[in-house]
Amino acid sequence: MQNSTAKKIVIVGGGSGGLKLATRLGHYYRRNADVSVTLVDGTLTHVWKPLLHEVAAGTLDVHDDECNYLAHARRHHFRFVWGRMMGLNNQRQQIRLEPLDGNGDGRTVPERDLDYDVLVLAVGGISDDFGIDGVANYCYRLDSSSEAERFRRSLLEAYLTAGQAAEKPEPGELDVAIVGGGATGVELAAELDKMRHELNQYGAVGIDAVKDTKMTLLERVPRLLPGLPEALAESTERELSSRGVSVRTGEAVSRVTAHGVHTETGDFIPARFSVWAAGIRGQPFLAKLDGLEISQHDQVMVKRSLQTTTDERIFALGDCAACPLDNEGSAFVPPRAQAADQQSKFLSAQIPRFLENQKLKPYVYRDRGSLVSLDDTAVGTLMGALMGNVNFEGWAARMSYRMLYRQHQRALHGSFRLIVLWISDLISRRTRPRLKLH
Ligand SMILES: Cc1cc2nc3c(=O)[nH]c(=O)nc-3n(C[C@H](O)[C@H](O)[C@H](O)COP(=O)(O)OP(=O)(O)OC[C@H]3O[C@@H](n4cnc5c(N)ncnc54)[C@H](O)[C@@H]3O)c2cc1C
Repeated sequence: MQNSTAKKIVIVGGGSGGLKLATRLGHYYRRNADVSVTLVDGTLTHVWKPLLHEVAAGTLDVHDDECNYLAHARRHHFRFVWGRMMGLNNQRQQIRLEPLDGNGDGRTVPERDLDYDVLVLAVGGISDDFGIDGVANYCYRLDSSSEAERFRRSLLEAYLTAGQAAEKPEPGELDVAIVGGGATGVELAAELDKMRHELNQYGAVGIDAVKDTKMTLLERVPRLLPGLPEALAESTERELSSRGVSVRTGEAVSRVTAHGVHTETGDFIPARFSVWAAGIRGQPFLAKLDGLEISQHDQVMVKRSLQTTTDERIFALGDCAACPLDNEGSAFVPPRAQAADQQSKFLSAQIPRFLENQKLKPYVYRDRGSLVSLDDTAVGTLMGALMGNVNFEGWAARMSYRMLYRQHQRALHGSFRLIVLWISDLISRRTRPRLKLH
């Protein structure tokens, strides 16, 4: 039972970083009635964001891998509040949540205020359209599981209707253009290729999903995967090209319309489906909050302790935070799941120190390397103190990539439940269709 004067830790955003932080702090304070831990999220379930390209391609059913916040909160000793943060009053130490209209019948829960003693912003980011004309109106994005699911459904329905029509599909009718040759764009291209082969195997769509879909991947800089070594980028490009994906590097997009993508060189790539997978910036609502310093990419400026530059009671982590890499402050921690993960671990030790008026330590980002999935294979670099930087690809890289998700599950659920989840995945994979077809 919490007492009414308990110190309130409020974490906003139950993603890669926020959910793990709530889980760790929930356990840490489970026998301490003087501190309460609350997680706020605008959705009811957590899906690990690096899986969203699989959700978009239908190779992963979002319902199989989501974690329900209410059940998780009960099991891990914190409180869950459903709602989207919209405002901040740091004088009164309150956040404001948007009204809730769960089933759209007008029976809303009005705006609510939530008190905090320590606030952690962990609301993630969105892809950056750089103000390019037409992106907001005509591009799909993978910023959330609902957006990935909306794309999957539209694509599947387009295939099914084309297959039912008397005429063969017109050229361009099913084409996909993906903008952004970083990890998200590359992984999506590979997964969509897998999807079209799977569709053909079902034989249910009445068209040749491989031959009748042209897939183009566009990247502004002259190579794919700017974060990985050149040799891996080249082998990735070869791999995608061999699967029939047209890779166009050094090609900047100038405008997107309902019919496709225009480039700065004057070219036009027809596409029924354009997906924006370039850049990352903070959630737009952050820039409207009072009392925070916001970067030019709409991220919250924090010190190396992850406290905001304006208020020591407010912390920020993950994609929504602009955290300096060192004391010079000219470069920032990259927006990656591994950074959000490290920062959640860091804050689970620092927030108790803060509440006990102890000095906080600086967060140090440790780059463990990157892995990019190409469906049944992967490419990547692992960085370690003992072995230095190792580039690898193929089956071993694919296994390491899969292990990243298992590590995420272990941090959330513990080793025993991880094993149970793993076994149940292995069993259900034998019984459920390989593609989500509804
Ligand atoms: C397709 C894809 C593949 C990726 N692959 C990799 C990879 O292989 N490796 C890697 O390191 N990184 C990868 N990333 C990046 C990685 O997913 C992010 O860096 C990471 O998820 C950031 O974690 P976070 O906790 O900051 O935010 P998120 O995980 O984005 O979570 C943010 C949470 O905040 C909630 N929220 C948002 N706004 C509000 C609000 N106003 N009020 C309340 N709640 C709110 C959201 O519902 C969400 O639950 C990938 C991203 C994508 C999209």
